[in-house]
This record gives sequence, C-alpha cells and structure tokens, in this order.
Amino acid sequence: MEASKPPEFAIDVSDAISAPEAFGASFDAAPLREALELGEGLEGDPAVAFRRTLGMFATGVTVLTTRAGEQVHGMTANAFMSVSLLPPLVLISIDRRAKMGALLHEGTRFGVSVLEAKQTGLSDRFAGRVADELPEATFEIIHETPLVEGALAHLVARVVRSYWGGDHSLFLGQVEFARYGEGRPLLFHGGRYERLIEDPSVFSLLPRELLDPILALGEKREYADGDVIMRRGEAGADLMLVLEGNVRIERPGFVMERGEGELVGEIEVLNPGEGRTADVLAVGHVRCVAVSRDALVSALEADPSAALALIEVLASRFRETA
Ligand code: FAD
Repeated sequence: MEASKPPEFAIDVSDAISAPEAFGASFDAAPLREALELGEGLEGDPAVAFRRTLGMFATGVTVLTTRAGEQVHGMTANAFMSVSLLPPLVLISIDRRAKMGALLHEGTRFGVSVLEAKQTGLSDRFAGRVADELPEATFEIIHETPLVEGALAHLVARVVRSYWGGDHSLFLGQVEFARYGEGRPLLFHGGRYERLIEDPSVFSLLPRELLDPILALGEKREYADGDVIMRRGEAGADLMLVLEGNVRIERPGFVMERGEGELVGEIEVLNPGEGRTADVLAVGHVRCVAVSRDALVSALEADPSAALALIEVLASRFRETA
C-alpha cells in the first residue's frame, strides 16, 4: 500500500500516527445497491426521508471557488469536512451535475470561504437561487485562487485525489493556505439557514433543566420590525425566550430593550390573574420561542432545580425594574 501513497503525503508522521494505510482500496469498487429501510413513522419517498434525515446534521455554509481561465466560478456547498491535520487535508462533495465538478481535477486549486452569519444572500447567489437584490461578491486572490471577501474563514487547497461518490464526486484537497477572523458562522440545518446564539445572559444563567423544556415545549414565532408581540392589559398566557433580535418593553415612564437569550413576559405567565404589565414591540426582525403557562408549570413541577432557577431570574427582574 505504501507505493500507492501520493508524493504530497510523503512526510514523516512515524511518531504521530499508527492508523492503517487506506488510500485507494476502499474506493475501487462501487457498493451494491441496497434498498434503504426507513424508520418507524417515516413513509413516502425514501429519497426524501433520507435527505431529511441527513438535514438533521447541522453544518456551516461555504462558497467553493476556482478559476476557469480568467473567470471565477463559485458555488455554495455545505458538504465540506476536515480530514487530517498532518498533512492538512479537507474533503468536498460535489453533485455530478454541478459545473464546479467539471472544473476540478487532480492538481487544480479550489478556495473555501466559510460564510458569516449574515451572508445568506451570498449563499443564495452561489446556489443559483433567484431573488431580488442578492449581494455582489468580490474576490481576493491568494495562491492564484479566488476567495470571497468578508467570509469568516478561508482555505486554499489543491486537489490531490478525487473519488466516486454516487451522484456526487469527492475531492480531497491538500490545504496550502488557511486563516480565520472573528465572528459567528452561518449554519444550515433541516434545509434552512440558522444562526448560533453565543452565551446570552439567560442561556448562561439558566441550567439545562429549565432551558431544555423551554426550547422543547416552545413554539417558534417570528415578528417584523415594529410588530406588537405583547400588549399591555391582555392576558399573559405565555412567556417568550428571545432567540434573535431585540424587543422593546414600554409602559408609562419605563422603556427598556431586551435581546437574544432573554425572557419576556415571565412574571405574568406565573400570575394568571394579572394582565400584561407592558407593551412589547419587535425591534428589527425578531425570532423567539413562546411557552404556554401549562407547559411551563409542568416542566417546573417536574424539576425543582428548574423552578429555583426561574425564581432567580424573577428576583433579578424585580431588582432591575424596582
Ligand atoms: P452554477 O449553478 O452555474 O453557479 C452557481 C451560482 O453561482 C449561479 O447563480 C452563478 O451565477 C453564481 N456564480 C458563479 N460564479 C460567480 C461569480 N464569479 N460571481 C458571481 N456569481 C457567480 N451542491 C453540491 O454539489 N454540494 C454541496 O455540498 C452543496 N451544498 C449546498 C448547501 C446549501 C446551503 C445550498 C443552498 C446549496 C448547496 N448545493 C450543494 C447546491 C449548489 O450550490 C447548487 O446546485 C449550485 O448551483 C451548483 O453550482 P454550479 O457549479 O453548477 O454552477
């Protein structure tokens, strides 16, 4: 097997790695076609169920780029993975119908631009999606390879092997250049874009015993800028955990904003006789999880430590607003 090792891997790793040699052999023959068995409750087209199952694996989003003569070609891809640190290797999986696949072969370089949370428009552009006013991309050339400016991380790799991957082709790239900046990544999960929420105050304050039921029992809601989320005086039948954006809380003589990871309406929801004490309005686009009183109360009854944590939050709210 040593003879089949390409020269770019001829570095001394004798001290570090004792894994078996594996290049080539497992890719020589295509596996047999076997029927895909679906789990209980999954019916219909197996291909759709398979795709949805794979969609449960959350990924980042990249734009792959390469040069085609003087032109730059890019495409959006989430089938990107790290393979090895020594030597530095990454793998991409490209649909055999994609133009990108025809441009890559052993020896060509490709760029990987890891998109930042706000770059959904660039992702749509390079996925060939049609929408009004998609942003234009600008490119920086490094190692003769275009990279999308403004991305969170960049890699340049040279294709050292390509493999059969069913209706996709796999390209193993040896990384020649890598860098990253500050920021949050764009995520892709269940066929849609998602974002990370990092260490917001309630997320770090509440134990998982309380957070988990809120996230599991809650119903996701979205609001546009200026929408009324809660109105003063109305019955407070649920509380909300803000996942994205800010909300403005207004009552006579009092205005404040709460942001990602904060609770809103948590006092009234535990006090059935009282109406809402303030208007709550969306500031920009807001995503939140709403939890009904019944769901919250049963989660608190089930776990006393969750109830204690909520009391802590309520106490801090009273201190804030007193
Ligand atoms: P095209 O469809 O011709 O080009 C893609 C788009 O990029 C076109 O709109 C084109 O106008 C634009 N574009 C190309 N170059 C430039 C440039 N220089 N400047 C401006 N615009 C340019 N497919 C896979 O095979 N593997 C994956 O891992 C994968 N992951 C995906 C993840 C997500 C989140 C999404 C939304 C799509 C993913 N796709 C993936 C689908 C893939 O992005 C599309 O099928 C894409 O259209 C394939 O590109 P193509 O090479 O065939 O080129």
